[in-house]
Amino acid sequence: MFLIIALVGGVFFLIYAWGGGKLNFRLSYPFLLDDDAAFSEKELNNELIDYYHKVLKKYVPYYSLLDKSGRKKFINRLHDLIHALELKGEENQAINLKVCTICCAPAIQITFGLDKYLFSSFHTIVVYPKMFYSESIGRFVKGGVSRGDAIFFSYDDLLKGYANPEDGLNLGLHEMAHAIHMESFDEDFQRRYPGWEKTAFAELEKMRHQSDPVLRNYAGQNRHELFAVCVETFFEKSSEMKSKSPLLYQATCDLLNQDPLRLSSTISY
Ligand SMILES: [Zn+2]
Repeated sequence: MFLIIALVGGVFFLIYAWGGGKLNFRLSYPFLLDDDAAFSEKELNNELIDYYHKVLKKYVPYYSLLDKSGRKKFINRLHDLIHALELKGEENQAINLKVCTICCAPAIQITFGLDKYLFSSFHTIVVYPKMFYSESIGRFVKGGVSRGDAIFFSYDDLLKGYANPEDGLNLGLHEMAHAIHMESFDEDFQRRYPGWEKTAFAELEKMRHQSDPVLRNYAGQNRHELFAVCVETFFEKSSEMKSKSPLLYQATCDLLNQDPLRLSSTISY
């Protein structure tokens, strides 16, 4: 076993550990507890609202498109979700509120038009600094969802997903879409889902014959990836999806009860 220790930014140590022929990241979490002391309150106060607002404005483009009442609703829901879940590092490290905010915001975004925004079965989010090794898949991954209990993110890739908000690739939206899909979420979602899936598969079939389909190929893997890729595309390539596949765009608006191209005016609170 060998260790390489490097001082990064003069603030934290980066340590890679090599053992058993497998690379394991032992990155000292750059996102540990630097601000938690001030924000351990469970009650949503003005200081917390201001903090959420700053993080969301910086990292989550969807939030910036909302009007004042939409932003208030987003922060209220986000705060509830953060406190309903256990968020931790790979070895049970506590993580700070900024990381919690960026992890949970995609779930609030997807469910923003639904009455329900808290998970019934998923209860834990595990955050890794970078891509991590999945024993079940047998390779390094950027994220994942276990059946009905935990969601996993590489924080590095979570940020990359938001860095380009128009490329249709967003790890947070993708994994949260899987979790919401697996849970069948609320009654309205369940009632509308069969119609959505019928339209989605019909549109996917058309796309197989198109030279430049709006959904990337990975959507054709199975019904789970179809939904997750569709959610990413719906939010990040809304105009293109509406023009190339208007039926799928409308079906997704109906399913999620929101239209990303008309955020302030169509969401029913
Ligand atoms: Zn997936």
